[in-house]
Amino acid sequence: MKVKCPECGGDVPIPDDVVIGEIVSCPDCGQEYEVYELSSEGPRIKPAEVAAEDWGE
Ligand SMILES: [Zn+2]
Repeated sequence: MKVKCPECGGDVPIPDDVVIGEIVSCPDCGQEYEVYELSSEGPRIKPAEVAAEDWGE
């Protein structure tokens, strides 16, 4: 299973046992995505939020 990378159009591989919230990364551009929905058409991904502390500006 794979989805198209919104950044570069490459194929992002998705594990068969993917769960919502799983982080996947594009092998072409390295962008990380979070699986946020599992639809009948396949998983939907969004750019993963970097789980860093908010240090404030
Ligand atoms: Zn990509």
